[in-house]
Amino acid sequence: MASIKFTESQSKKLKKLGIFDEWDLLLHFPSRYIDETKIKTIDEIKPGELSQIQGTIVKTKISYVPRKNLSVYIKDGTGEIQIRFLNFYPSQIKQLEEGALIRVFGEVKAYALFHEMVHPQYKIIQEDEPLPTTYTPVYPVTSGMAQKSLRKLIQKYILIEKTKKQFNDLFPEIYKKNKFPSFIEAIECIHNPPKNYKKDDFDSKRSIYHQRLIYDEFLAQQLFFRSRYLELIKHKAPKFEFSKKIHELFLQQLTFNLTEQQKTTFSELREDFSLGHPMNRLLQGDVGSGKTVVAVMAAIQAMGAGYQVAFMAPTEILAGQHYEKIKNWLTPLLFKVELLTGGVKAKAKVEVYEKLEVGKIDLLIGTHALFQEAVKFKNLGFYIIDEQHRFGVEQRIALREGNLGKLSYEPHKLMMSATPIPRTLSMSYFADMEISTINELPPGRIPIITKLFSEDRRSMILGNIKDLCLQGSQAFWVCPLIEDSETLQLQTAINTFNSLSKILSNLNVGLIHGRMKQDEKKEIMQKFQDNKINILVATTVIEVGVDVPNATLMVIENAERLGLSQLHQLRGRIGRGGKESACILLYKEKLSDLAKKRLKIIFENTDGFIIAEEDLRLRGPGEFLGLKQSGLPSLKIGNLSRDESLLSIAKKDAEILLKNEHKPFLHLDRWLKNYELLSRA
Ligand code: ADP
Ligand code: MG
Repeated sequence: MASIKFTESQSKKLKKLGIFDEWDLLLHFPSRYIDETKIKTIDEIKPGELSQIQGTIVKTKISYVPRKNLSVYIKDGTGEIQIRFLNFYPSQIKQLEEGALIRVFGEVKAYALFHEMVHPQYKIIQEDEPLPTTYTPVYPVTSGMAQKSLRKLIQKYILIEKTKKQFNDLFPEIYKKNKFPSFIEAIECIHNPPKNYKKDDFDSKRSIYHQRLIYDEFLAQQLFFRSRYLELIKHKAPKFEFSKKIHELFLQQLTFNLTEQQKTTFSELREDFSLGHPMNRLLQGDVGSGKTVVAVMAAIQAMGAGYQVAFMAPTEILAGQHYEKIKNWLTPLLFKVELLTGGVKAKAKVEVYEKLEVGKIDLLIGTHALFQEAVKFKNLGFYIIDEQHRFGVEQRIALREGNLGKLSYEPHKLMMSATPIPRTLSMSYFADMEISTINELPPGRIPIITKLFSEDRRSMILGNIKDLCLQGSQAFWVCPLIEDSETLQLQTAINTFNSLSKILSNLNVGLIHGRMKQDEKKEIMQKFQDNKINILVATTVIEVGVDVPNATLMVIENAERLGLSQLHQLRGRIGRGGKESACILLYKEKLSDLAKKRLKIIFENTDGFIIAEEDLRLRGPGEFLGLKQSGLPSLKIGNLSRDESLLSIAKKDAEILLKNEHKPFLHLDRWLKNYELLSRA
């Protein structure tokens, strides 16, 4: 798209700002504006305000106390003000000569008998120098790229765009309907808002010009999601009849009754299976809400209809646990369940491949190993992706284009996530999937108590753990990522393991981390499950899915470093039996404001949905996990909380556009440069 080249040195600096072509440049919006369109008289200005004054220099003085500085006195007929520079060049002294007319912009401070400005912006002017007629944009810049040169560059490209009309409006009727200005009008106004407009609207990005472009950005995402969905449901998928008999057999052997919401969500899946086009559904439910059993009931329906099912989990531990549990549930029903992970021995793997290909396996549970080329299903009809936010876009593409791509139909897909998408988002944003929600926990769960302790309470905690373990309970001790380095994380875990083993020598302390061999990990987990280990020191490998009901205490070190959803996930590893459980968050003193807020939220809330909403507010939507899972780049200008109403308009309009146009794809080309790749995931 970039037909006009930046110079090489420009390119380098612009890249740091995320600007790769003229489109990005035009959309590099000011973070705020300053008002240089008005002159105030010196007697009008007040301390703390950003103001512009104009007057004659009456005196210039260099003094050395307390340190070298240049003072310039200016009069305008209503009063006098001083401007002061702590750093200055000889050329400046010359320029600031007595009698010159000067225009100054800066923050006013109270100083002795009069006001002053320190390091203001200034300009020596002629008598009739006109004032700007637009507010001055202030851009996010990077080192080596001065505000002024970026302004100039952007202005240049606005002019070019005005003649070239490269980004002309693709959907004039729709913009007209919404009373939006044209693209070029919007761009021009955002970079040069005329002084008769309200500056506040521009600072807060609520001007109609901002709205037009935020709308465009949302429209692109909606077009993307929706077209991907429409594409998907064009495919055929097998229908699975519901078999009441097997279903009831399965329920009979469960040791619990389904919750109402487990029943409802299952019936939603049943409905999807009857439609003839592929299911694309997200089952979201808080940690421990019992999603697995719902997925397994759906799998039973697929297998009952003679199709194979794949069940994918992000870690070997989790895949292993699912396997143990699900095998116990399904073997009595005569379904054949196998496990395939990277850790499975080569020979056993080959056996799995062979059995799979001839249909001797009904349900294959595993990790990424399921995407490998050698894995060929006979007739995969349904696949489940657990903790789906842990799988990247490339992995999902590999899955679909590898062993799924060769089928003559598209299998059904169920994704599961314990990181709930905030309601505001899920209602409007994800236009390409259906969402089922479980927001109750099975009965009998006792809420987890969360405690916040600074690190110096460690010895007290150790005492408590000891008592607890001697009474038969178990504990997790989690050492999360300290630096962005796996090795360091490992080191803290090992150190902690050593010191706990020493201090609590009459207890069994275990250690588990991601670098261990699969067999070792499995052995440790088994021991912990069998209560042969009292305290399990772990890195965040245990974050997802691990289910040990007898563990009633969790200590999380450096809790201040973790994100909200991660803390919530970790905490969800306990409180799974009928006993009271506690989670202790250890933090180092000197918490940042953000860390304080996070810890407060996790301390006060146990509902994953509320935590997710708070997470969205704290982090800003660009970073929000829910978006990353979709593989979409973060929003450039839109803000999902602030601009919710624009989003719902864009959503409706995307539907309309997709009914009758091919042009949407030009719009996607502009806004989502990698949409073709994404649409394969
Ligand atoms: P998650 O939604 O986090 O994946 P799981 O499916 O692992 O949760 O379920 C958590 C635990 O609750 C498991 O031990 C599971 O067998 C159990 N469970 C699931 N449904 C119920 C229920 N309706 N009543 C009691 N326990 C249940
Ligand atoms: Mg789970």
